[in-house]
Amino acid sequence: MTIFKTRLPNNFDLPRRINRLGELAYNLWWTWQPQAQRLFSHIDGELWERLAHNPILFLREAGRSSLNEAAQKSEYLENYDQVFTDFDAYMAQKGTWCDKNQGSFCKKPIAYFSMEFGLHETLPIYSGGLGVLAGDHLKEASDLGLPLKGIGFLYAEGYFSQRISEDGWQDALNNPLNFDDLPLVPMVDDEGEPLTVSVEFPDRKVSARLLEVRVGRIPLYLMDSDVPTNAPEDRKLSSRLYWSDINFRIAQEVLLGVGGVRVMRALGHDPSVWHMNEGHAAFQILERAREVVETGKTFAEAIEETRVNNVFTTHTPVPAGNDEFPLWMIDKYLGALWPQLGLSRDEFVDLARNQQSWGETFSMGVLALRHSDGKNGVSELHGRVARGMWNFLWKDLKKEDVPIGYVTNGVHTSTWLARRLGILYSEYLGADWLDRLDDPSLWEQIDNIPDKELWEVRNHLKRKMVFYMMERTRRRWMQGGFHPVQAIASGALLEPYVLTIGFARRFATYKRANLILSELDRVLGLLNRPNQPLQIIFAGKAHPADEPGKQLIQGVYRAVKKAENGGRLVFLEDYDMNVARYLVQGVDVWLNTPRRPNEASGTSGMKAAMNGALNFSVLDGWWREAYNGSNGWAIGDDVAPDTESQDEGDIASLYATLENEIIPLYYDRDANGLPAKWLKMVKNNLRTITPQFSMRRMVKEYVEQLYLPARK
Ligand SMILES: *Cc1c(COP(=O)(O)O)cnc(C)c1O
Repeated sequence: MTIFKTRLPNNFDLPRRINRLGELAYNLWWTWQPQAQRLFSHIDGELWERLAHNPILFLREAGRSSLNEAAQKSEYLENYDQVFTDFDAYMAQKGTWCDKNQGSFCKKPIAYFSMEFGLHETLPIYSGGLGVLAGDHLKEASDLGLPLKGIGFLYAEGYFSQRISEDGWQDALNNPLNFDDLPLVPMVDDEGEPLTVSVEFPDRKVSARLLEVRVGRIPLYLMDSDVPTNAPEDRKLSSRLYWSDINFRIAQEVLLGVGGVRVMRALGHDPSVWHMNEGHAAFQILERAREVVETGKTFAEAIEETRVNNVFTTHTPVPAGNDEFPLWMIDKYLGALWPQLGLSRDEFVDLARNQQSWGETFSMGVLALRHSDGKNGVSELHGRVARGMWNFLWKDLKKEDVPIGYVTNGVHTSTWLARRLGILYSEYLGADWLDRLDDPSLWEQIDNIPDKELWEVRNHLKRKMVFYMMERTRRRWMQGGFHPVQAIASGALLEPYVLTIGFARRFATYKRANLILSELDRVLGLLNRPNQPLQIIFAGKAHPADEPGKQLIQGVYRAVKKAENGGRLVFLEDYDMNVARYLVQGVDVWLNTPRRPNEASGTSGMKAAMNGALNFSVLDGWWREAYNGSNGWAIGDDVAPDTESQDEGDIASLYATLENEIIPLYYDRDANGLPAKWLKMVKNNLRTITPQFSMRRMVKEYVEQLYLPARK
């Protein structure tokens, strides 16, 4: 079947000389190309900010006169021509890393399933780290030339926007997305009809149409169940990410796994690797087995034949974090499937049977682990924890022999690195530094960067962050209904030259956002110490159904509202990828205080590190691997957890390091007014962390350790 999907949905009214901007708006490649972003912002910077970096809205609303003006400026056109030369070369590139190193492997598709994808703030189909990791994975797969195809959902309401009320309570706003404003290309078949896939439940059929998002060279296929042939309830199936209602969740997961396989088939793809980013997509295992059973083989043969291609990445270090369904739901939603597999109900349930205190369940984690040859956690410690947690599935094996490995997470450098730092790296590490990004020897030259220049860029980035927060506060203030204390809590009194700590992530209780506020009087003293003040910025959302998480925000907000903090404790509303970019680029210290070993990896600290912020974190997840004694600070020790006493020990360690090491080091200036010892640490941090915790290193490890073995 030929799929006609080349016509972009929007007809922009653009001057001929610059009309390819319309095409650029439909490929997220621009989101990791600073020069391409400038093609929009240089037309009308104020509008670009006001439309929250949405190029489609921007091109529609930018006045013809400012577009004409740009089309006549030689400086603008020079950049324009360069960007499109680069874009065309990128899209047509032969001899990518994959071509050069993996040969024929690069020809056969890799299907990559994820419930969420964090690609850009304008496409809110992610809630946090899992999604941003998936988005970064697609971008790097594009850069390396991997034949990856993403599969996920288009959530009609996006993920919620967060407002904090005056008394610190999180309000969730669900704003319906306008698909016409987003870089979505509806897919149609050769008759011009919407391309759909369907899954059968015992009592009904559910269909979804497909929309494509272009991520450089990688297509991401999103399913949308809001089609007229579906029952009204089913039309809402894909309207939200992570429904609390378990009926919606299982139906979504069936659609992701089973429907996802059918997406690949509808497009004529025969992937050699089926990668499940977390267990939500594990039903794909059963659908692929069903396909083989249909050819006349037994289920046992089918599941053996297909398991070699399955790769499963687990992200959850606690049993409760895995999706499990009570058995009555399996009857309700999968009752039509086991006859097709040639199994009895009992045999079917045995594929993923788990025992909980409240009864027997069907566990997505068990399903995926039992039937995938490739299995990994996301950091060294998390791999170890996962081997212990799932040892019961391999009763004959010792814990250390449980076949779950690890690939430590990474972040996509071009997405998260400040433009100005990229310029410094080009100048002092070589113009090809980005091509050699994951080569540690490149970063040995980091001392070539003069302290003064590095410090200027760091100060510039912090100023930019502070002004951004002030401007956001001003706009909220002008909308009305905002109490002055909320304006101060959002950063109205921040200063651009004060040592600044950032803490931004999902507000789940294990992350202990309030740990640094444990001894509030002590913190208040530090914030306003003469000549050595300190600022702390918090940001993050709690899942709308997570009451303890929302109470945690409220607790932090109570401290933020105290006049004694002088406006130096701040809570920034509505954490998303845009806010994350300002924070990881602008703060001096990135704080993370999970209760070990709950942070499977964590990635925001890597984003901060490559921008020259220093990590100050519990030795959990990635930081346990990165910390070397001179590239940041540890909170507590690398010892097995003992929950209650861990809190006390971590609090003591946190305050001691902050008071005796971090604050004095930051304010220790040499004769030139530079914090030479601080900058030495910043350079140690850049040298050791940037190559190792890049998405480049990570995706190469997935290829070598998991994708190549999965190829039959
Ligand atoms: C990177 C990122 C995360 C993940 O942060 P953790 O360090 O894993 O907590 C979450 N949300 C956003 C918006 C991010 O950019």
